[in-house]
Amino acid sequence: MKNLILGAALLSGATAYAAPTKYIVKLKEGANPKSISLFSMKSVQDVTPVRASFGKFYSLKAEGLSQKSVSLLAADPNIEYIEESQTYSIGPVAMNKEVINDAKYSDQWGLKNTGRNSGGWFSRGKEGEDVNAEKAWGITKGDRALKIAVIDTGVDYTHQDLKANMWTNELEANGIEGVDDDGNGYIDDIHGYDFANDDGDPQDGHGHGTHCAGNIGAKHDRSGVRGVMDNVQMVGIKFLTDSGSGDTQDAIESIEYAIAVGVDLMSNSWGGGGFSQALKDAIQAANDAGIVFVAAAGNSRRDNDTTDSYPANYEIENVISVGAMDGSGKRSSFSNYGAEKVHVFAPGSNIMSTVPGNRYQKMSGTSMATPLASGVIGLLMAENPNLTPMEIRDRVEATAVRNGLVDQYTRSGRIDAERLLLNTVN
Ligand code: CA
Repeated sequence: MKNLILGAALLSGATAYAAPTKYIVKLKEGANPKSISLFSMKSVQDVTPVRASFGKFYSLKAEGLSQKSVSLLAADPNIEYIEESQTYSIGPVAMNKEVINDAKYSDQWGLKNTGRNSGGWFSRGKEGEDVNAEKAWGITKGDRALKIAVIDTGVDYTHQDLKANMWTNELEANGIEGVDDDGNGYIDDIHGYDFANDDGDPQDGHGHGTHCAGNIGAKHDRSGVRGVMDNVQMVGIKFLTDSGSGDTQDAIESIEYAIAVGVDLMSNSWGGGGFSQALKDAIQAANDAGIVFVAAAGNSRRDNDTTDSYPANYEIENVISVGAMDGSGKRSSFSNYGAEKVHVFAPGSNIMSTVPGNRYQKMSGTSMATPLASGVIGLLMAENPNLTPMEIRDRVEATAVRNGLVDQYTRSGRIDAERLLLNTVN
């Protein structure tokens, strides 16, 4: 029965009363929510439409909804499927305690690994085990026409290294507070949107999203760090709270918003939960709009070929799953892997980047490898704007460096910006 997608907790009768309180319901095309009698039953406290153009979705909150009621909902002829809401998070990202006021390009081994980059956490460098950014910059440093969504804990769009590369919705920036000046359905969305708090301010209350943004597009000026791209427009889309977690509805609405803004790529340094047809539908819609969806492989040291890690494992043409490697070119000990399911590896240990308040910090995770890969793919999109998501993914795999260290953990090897741009295949 395809329209009943539930986790183990609900499938076991004994634990039915421990049911989660939030569900995502997808109606069939042309269905009328008013004719779904169960929507008005007593245990259902809240039924709200999910903002999505790729289907009629509702979020449903219920207290102690019995397994029988869920089955009845699933059997309703108006309902395509009902599933539990999932919780997504940034995962166990390691954050160096040291938060500094200035950082140097030479701290960024992921862009240029000299084997002798700054010490501390970083002690086992191997020259050349990086994304090969400098060679690529001789060809392109990006393009302001490109829009990349950072779907995360938000972005500090006032950061000195980021503000010049933030997307700005000019009508909102010059508009009236509290008014949807550009008529896109979102009020005050000047640099993005906050779906965790449902407002137009995607300011980062955690640090993780700002770190990701810096890896993609910190401006190449004389201070601070550099992103893989010097020229880009980053859209801050917040759905993870200040403690770093969010749910299915907010993830879907983030993807919907990114599609509406017309981004070229979504960078996703988050994951968790089980399979969600609703989230898969959203990523499929992004694919149909020609948008690349880069996703972190996960930080659980697991084999994604045998244990699914979502959203990285959704089998959709635009999903590019990224594992993390350290400065010696080896798989980061925390990184998930998968000879079939992980498409490529990128630097992810001890990565220096931006954090809120004009500060800088090292973090470790596939969360960091993901935006570095997103930036590299952004360079390719700047040079070849007409490639489809699948063509891009194929090329990422075909041009990756088989470094003899991470190859067994991925379909390809370590991402290489110059080879990607020149289409240097093995
Ligand atoms: Ca607006």
